[in-house]
Amino acid sequence: MIIRARTVVTMDGAPIENGAVAVSKNQIADVGKFDEIRARNAGEIVDLGEQALLPGLINAHCHLDYTCLRGKIPPQKSFADWIRAINTEKANLSPKDYLASIDDGFAEAKRFGTTTIANLTAFPELIPKISAPIRTWWFAELIDVRAPDRAGEIVELAIESLKSAHNWGLTPHALFTASKKLYRRCEEIARRNDILLTTHLAESQEEMEMFHDASGPLYEFLKSTGRPMNDCGSKTPLARFLDLIGRGGSPNRPRAIEVNRPYLPWIVAHLNELIESDFDSLERSETRFHVVHSPRSHDYFKHSRFPFEKLRALGFNICLGTDSLASNENLSLFAEMRAFQKEFPGVPPEEVLQMVTVNPARALRQENALGRIRRGCRADLISIPCSGTDDVFAEIIAFEEAVDWILLNGKEKRNTPHAAKLSK
Ligand SMILES: [Zn+2]
Repeated sequence: MIIRARTVVTMDGAPIENGAVAVSKNQIADVGKFDEIRARNAGEIVDLGEQALLPGLINAHCHLDYTCLRGKIPPQKSFADWIRAINTEKANLSPKDYLASIDDGFAEAKRFGTTTIANLTAFPELIPKISAPIRTWWFAELIDVRAPDRAGEIVELAIESLKSAHNWGLTPHALFTASKKLYRRCEEIARRNDILLTTHLAESQEEMEMFHDASGPLYEFLKSTGRPMNDCGSKTPLARFLDLIGRGGSPNRPRAIEVNRPYLPWIVAHLNELIESDFDSLERSETRFHVVHSPRSHDYFKHSRFPFEKLRALGFNICLGTDSLASNENLSLFAEMRAFQKEFPGVPPEEVLQMVTVNPARALRQENALGRIRRGCRADLISIPCSGTDDVFAEIIAFEEAVDWILLNGKEKRNTPHAAKLSK
């Protein structure tokens, strides 16, 4: 099959005017000017017309479990209050509700042109019952705050369910809900099975207060649940995390000057709360990890400014995610890109689009398979209307509708106009 469009945005070089992509089975076989592609390849021609053809989008951090909580929790006074509020909502949900919620979330993500998702679930036992309509990395979200002596058992149980998934990883939830033992166990398994890990880190001011000062609403809330609080009152969340994963390093180590440092298997969500000493540690660190920013969830919580420029300058791979609908209004990565632009108007639109294509592909270790239109990559493509303005990247980010045409693993899918209106 040959797919022609007004502009092919490959994310692998300049956009191609009057471009085309040849697809063979589930792979991209060729990409270039329409005339050249037609001369070199046989097959049916699909002319998309006045459209931009681009790689399917990748959501680097989401919890489809909570799709059904859209609009249910208004912003709270504190982060601890929000945790209480979501726990109250969760108490009313059954496994059947979660299955419906996850299915609805998948359908919505796809309507918005997402073809790959890193999805965290607190219910890995449901995974075998779900047939994911888009490429999914399933991360089991693990919490042992009420049973720290059962860390090993909790991990093993989750892995049993995860095995039915094609791509999976582990998520010790956060420093305040997962023990050192749980983090260490997940690291061991990542080394042994070559899987990815993700966690929530340094998200709120209250998390900083809890670990650094042993005070504040989150500290008080967790103390009241019986959590041992002896890890609080000295280090920042980031310093604590680097210690837990054995990457704290020596403070006397000279600052590394090389730029290309190897990446750990960690995809870290948030990192809003970092202080000067944290940036010093990151500068000295011999390794890097991937970072996910969720602009609209960040706005909802009114977190401190995300230190995008500093993290980028230190060579971190920065991706965007929607987080869950318990703190966001829909699963559109286009809306996420627009929210990011509002926060950081100086960042070029092309770089913003990289944060939902090539960057998350790299975080998922799929840089040669996903996130760009290149020979040999998976045929995951989307198309959106394009009027031929000067900046096709700006036009893509401004797109507010549902995506009508999707090619997923080489198979053409159309979202109906009805579906397009469903989730505004
Ligand atoms: Zn999250």
